[in-house]
Formats: sequence, C-alpha cells, structure tokens
Amino acid sequence: MSGCLFCQIARGDRHAHTVFEKEGTVAFLDIFPCTPGHTLVIPRQHYPTLDEMPAEEAGRLFHVAAVVAGKVQAAMGAAGFNLGVNNGKAAGQEVFHVHIHIIPRYPNDGGGSMKSVARMSGEKDIEQIASKIRQTFSPS
Ligand SMILES: [Zn+2]
Repeated sequence: MSGCLFCQIARGDRHAHTVFEKEGTVAFLDIFPCTPGHTLVIPRQHYPTLDEMPAEEAGRLFHVAAVVAGKVQAAMGAAGFNLGVNNGKAAGQEVFHVHIHIIPRYPNDGGGSMKSVARMSGEKDIEQIASKIRQTFSPS
C-alpha cells in the first residue's frame, strides 16, 4: 500500500522513532503520545484491520508487543501499561494498517482503564450475548 503511512514507516521510506524491529514487525513511538513512551507495534505487511490478519501472524504481532511493552515499561520507569487495538472506525481507528498501542501508565496520569473506552447503557442479557458469540464458533 504505497499511500499507507505505516507501510512507508515499515519500508523505511518515512522517518519514525523506531525502538525495535523483528520478525516482520516494527515498533516505533507514537508522534501524538498519550503518555511518555507511547509505542505502536505494526506488522510489516499491510492489513487494514486485525480481523483481516491471519491469526498466526496476529499471534506473532501480540508476542512482540508483549515483549516490547515490558521493555518500554522498564525503560520509562512506568508503573504499568495498557495494550490495545482500535479496530475499525467505530473503535477510533485512524490509520488503517493494524497497530497495537502500548501506553505506559504512571500514577495520576489522568487516564482510565480499558473499561473507560465505552459505556453500555441499560440492562443487557449477558447469557444471550455469550450464546450469540459461541454460535459463531460452531454454526448450525
Ligand atoms: Zn500499510
């Protein structure tokens, strides 16, 4: 994808503050960081969204992200981190090349947990939801 910002970074055609490269993945600093050390981990190969990526490749990407997250936390002296993917426009995805955010967390940094990204209104039937999801694994 020649017009893709992250493909350009993966190819080295665009400057990024790269912190790690391995096994088809690149990790670099987000230029609009939520906290110091905010890092993005991307596959070199272009996939618009995570659900379009083969599960094995996604597994490798998350493996690298977990390793990099630990290193970022140590380097930054952070107290924790959030690891997350904005998958799809509704989830806030802006660059349509899969990327995992590593957001180091610090005491009193003003942020919230993953549960703060959306709010469910009203009562929902949790068992019905679980059933609906289970059915996608074994249709019929
Ligand atoms: Zn791309």
